[in-house]
Amino acid sequence: MQKRDYYEVLGVSKNSTKLEIKKAYRKLAIKYHPDKNPGDKKAEEKFKEAAEAYDVLGDDEKRAKYDQFGHSAFAGPSGGGGFQGGMTMEDILRNFGDIFGGGGSPFDDIFGGGRSRGQRSRGTRGQNLRIKVALTLEEIATGVSKKIKVKKYVKCDTCGGSGAKDSSSIKTCSTCHGAGSVRQIRSTMLGQMQTVVTCPKCHGTGSEMTEKCPSCRGEGITYGAETVEFELPAGLNEMMQFSLRGKGNAGRNGGPAGDLIIEIEEKPHDFLVRDGNNLIYNLTLNFADAALGTSVEVPSIGGKVKIKIPAGTQPGKIFRLKDKGLPIVNSYGKGDQLIYVNIWVPKTLSNEEKSLMEKLKNSSNFEPKQEKKDKGFFEKMREYFHR
Ligand SMILES: [Zn+2]
Ligand SMILES: [Zn+2]
Repeated sequence: MQKRDYYEVLGVSKNSTKLEIKKAYRKLAIKYHPDKNPGDKKAEEKFKEAAEAYDVLGDDEKRAKYDQFGHSAFAGPSGGGGFQGGMTMEDILRNFGDIFGGGGSPFDDIFGGGRSRGQRSRGTRGQNLRIKVALTLEEIATGVSKKIKVKKYVKCDTCGGSGAKDSSSIKTCSTCHGAGSVRQIRSTMLGQMQTVVTCPKCHGTGSEMTEKCPSCRGEGITYGAETVEFELPAGLNEMMQFSLRGKGNAGRNGGPAGDLIIEIEEKPHDFLVRDGNNLIYNLTLNFADAALGTSVEVPSIGGKVKIKIPAGTQPGKIFRLKDKGLPIVNSYGKGDQLIYVNIWVPKTLSNEEKSLMEKLKNSSNFEPKQEKKDKGFFEKMREYFHR
């Protein structure tokens, strides 16, 4: 399904301020909140759509990317979930705390009583991790699945992430008496209100430890590694990054894991240079081949390609191999391979070559004709790139 423009979703203009965007989102979020529209699928869709739009436009970095590339800036690896693909109702509801100020959700109070969806967060959320993935042009051309061992905090094997020595060393939290939350008065954008916040002592677990797990000293996490597998679509570039939800550092005391953010790097190719979705190859011909015509093999993605060089080919000539460039991410289009012709001039000559050259030089019809409107290299390139 075609995604709607994020600005359109929130009903704001392209140059609206952060505050305007936040306000617009808040209005929509209250209108379509699931607690206010129980069982209404359409409202839920609108709610999610608004959250997704805000996730991008409410973040300077993501918004800049969106402005430049549109939805394709956040094209997720298939199955793994990109910025939006992996956004669950739970994530959206959890984010309300950040958006409306404070720890809990102000909706608990607005709509009377605890929210029905999502789980109380336990422990502390793990940190996001960033890794760089270097791709060859071939991998960019076809898309690739990667399997990478990531060193990070993982759930403690000994205690299964709880941080406790064993089940008998867990007792009910003395602060919240097992509820995991406590009532508190706080000020929010919506004014003074009594809210329910996560218990500061047990971090929402409702329990506390009498004896800590010896392996993780009660943290529930240890430093280790996990092999992460993901798919990257074809046509990526270095401006793009992906977020794999829950593949970052494990959270303390059973808290949710952070995200793994994958940054794309491009490995240089031996022969081809990338320009957007086009690939450029510099072909150097000797003067005789250019004058007489020949056929040559040029490297391209997925093997060599034979091309015909017509007699009288001039330096600066650009041959185009249609659709031999890189795919355009999340689209059917493809770039071209451009072959730029250089003419090789020998630096030294044998006596025999010298005399042959002299002969050639003195033959008739061997004066360069100065064309009245000789197109320069840059003009020609411009024609190809901006056609
Ligand atoms: Zn442990
Ligand atoms: Zn507690």
